[in-house]
Amino acid sequence: MKPLQRLLAAALLAGLAGTAQAQFGDLLRQLPIPGAGNILNTPAAPGGAAAAGDLLQMLAQSVDNIDEPREIEIGRQLAAVLLGSKPLHSDANLQRYVNRLGRWLSLQSERPHLPWTFGVLDDAGFNAFAAPGGYIFVTKGLVDRVDEAELAGILAHEITHVTARHHLKALAAKARSGIATQLIASQVRSNIVGNAISAQMLALGRDLYTSGLDRADEHDADRQGVTLAARAGFDPYGLPSVLQQLRTAAPDNPLFTLTLSTHPPAQQRLEVLEAAMGNRLDALSGKPSVPIATRLRAR
Ligand SMILES: [Zn+2]
Repeated sequence: MKPLQRLLAAALLAGLAGTAQAQFGDLLRQLPIPGAGNILNTPAAPGGAAAAGDLLQMLAQSVDNIDEPREIEIGRQLAAVLLGSKPLHSDANLQRYVNRLGRWLSLQSERPHLPWTFGVLDDAGFNAFAAPGGYIFVTKGLVDRVDEAELAGILAHEITHVTARHHLKALAAKARSGIATQLIASQVRSNIVGNAISAQMLALGRDLYTSGLDRADEHDADRQGVTLAARAGFDPYGLPSVLQQLRTAAPDNPLFTLTLSTHPPAQQRLEVLEAAMGNRLDALSGKPSVPIATRLRAR
């Protein structure tokens, strides 16, 4: 195991031993951030909560104000929002597998040097989330319903949201619209994240993950995700195969509600993808399906 993976595994295991609160706190505090130092010690975040307001103000002015360390700090705070609502799953073997798969994919991306961090959330729903700087989470319910190529397709889609800074764009628009102030007024006090993040970031993060991203950015993530998965050696039809599953999911199935409401209709996503892919990637398809359970047993 490489030192980075060993550290991550140790961080995950340390986090898993505690409560939900300790889990994400320890995980995020202990995560190695290559090339960026410890993000908690960067000048961008001297006081955590106070810095978040500054970050949002800078973001509201222009996404260009956000350099990479700031992007990672915003992502760390949004990851805390996500982990505050759903804890990590306790299967360390599964966490290691998804991290290894995700890191392999991210190495083929345009931003391989980001502190990529992948996690499986203990949730029965079918969902995947990303935060700026390289934080990516999938739910256990999703992992249970896909094979390896499909999971690679989903992770590649989320990786594209990060490399193309889609969440920063969406956050900037929300920060500019003044929605943060309105949201904070109606926000319940957070006893989960403590002082680690500001009320503004918490409000905006929750809003972002329930309303979703720009529809054009979703199509972009589908197209680039397929290419990325293929570049990493996976069947390019993994993501389209997931979209087929989503297309046939009953709209009233609560496990799929959030994914369906935060993305363009699966039929439309398939059509846009098909137009972009044509048959150019057909030669790379037709690989045998690898069940994730097989991978986990082999470890
Ligand atoms: Zn997406």
